[in-house]
Amino acid sequence: MSFELLDGKALSLTIKEEIKEKVDQIKEKNLRPPHLSAVLVGNNPASESYMKNKVKSCDVVGFTSDLIRRDSDATEADILSIVHDLNKDDGVDGFIVQLPLPDHIDSEKILLAIDPSKDVDGFHPHNFGCMAQGLDCYLPATPYGILLMIERHNIETSGKHVVVIGRSNIVGTPLSILLSRKTDVGNATVTLVHSRTKDLSSITRQADILISAIGKPFYVTADMVKDNAVVIDVGINRIDDLSRKSGSRLVGDVDFEKVSLKSSYITPVPGGVGPMTVVALMLNTLSAYNKKLS
Ligand code: NAD
Repeated sequence: MSFELLDGKALSLTIKEEIKEKVDQIKEKNLRPPHLSAVLVGNNPASESYMKNKVKSCDVVGFTSDLIRRDSDATEADILSIVHDLNKDDGVDGFIVQLPLPDHIDSEKILLAIDPSKDVDGFHPHNFGCMAQGLDCYLPATPYGILLMIERHNIETSGKHVVVIGRSNIVGTPLSILLSRKTDVGNATVTLVHSRTKDLSSITRQADILISAIGKPFYVTADMVKDNAVVIDVGINRIDDLSRKSGSRLVGDVDFEKVSLKSSYITPVPGGVGPMTVVALMLNTLSAYNKKLS
């Protein structure tokens, strides 16, 4: 069976080009471009790399951006004070606080302090609630990126059985809600499975669209997937690989080599969902900018 690659890298470049055209029009009117701020605490290598991509993408689409860094011993009060300043700053359309934060900082407290109108990661309960009710909001970046990927590849979701593995607040749970809404790229019958699900494989085998967001390398094997399924791999896992100079490489949750042979569409890792998450963040920032002007 031949599969089509859901190439998030290529699609993200196309969408970034579309965003850039809009930003060019803004600049032609002598208005300031959208601005995204980012807060990074500590030096987690994965977070450093995600941040680098986000800042670089701002440059590509013509946004301005700034990265506010603090050492891992920064206090919760320090970070709350940064959040309050960003909330008040009229020159900042949206901002993100990169997770995970060091253990001594209460992430929930920090996320709750973010003004929902600037919460372009879409993590604030206000945005989550509006998303669940189909009201205007910032969609959480990773689920939003996945919806865009499905939409741009004209993959039908209406009436399909979608199985989402993993129930986090930032990926699995919002995805399950979004895909079951009565909208385009919705109207699916969604099953959310997780670590307490019994006989998980018997459920994943029923999926027309299977989405894995658990963070376990090669967890989804070919016997868990129906023939011709669409497979979307959100997982990002670093595993040892002595054939690489770095001694490691990134893989998803899905055993790509074998699962791809049964799939109609499948995302690679890296180069699948990751770049789409960044593009969704850019779209949310543009929308924050436009809302401020209107
Ligand atoms: P999380 O740890 O918050 O949640 C993982 C979920 O998986 C939990 O709900 C848990 O119940 C479930 N789970 C764990 N083991 C399981 C098992 N054996 N069977 C069934 N369910 C199981 O993780 P998260 O933040 O949602 O991230 C998940 C993965 O996606 C990670 O690898 C993360 O790095 C990646 N991620 C990627 C992007 C991207 O842009 N590509 C964005 C966010 C997260």
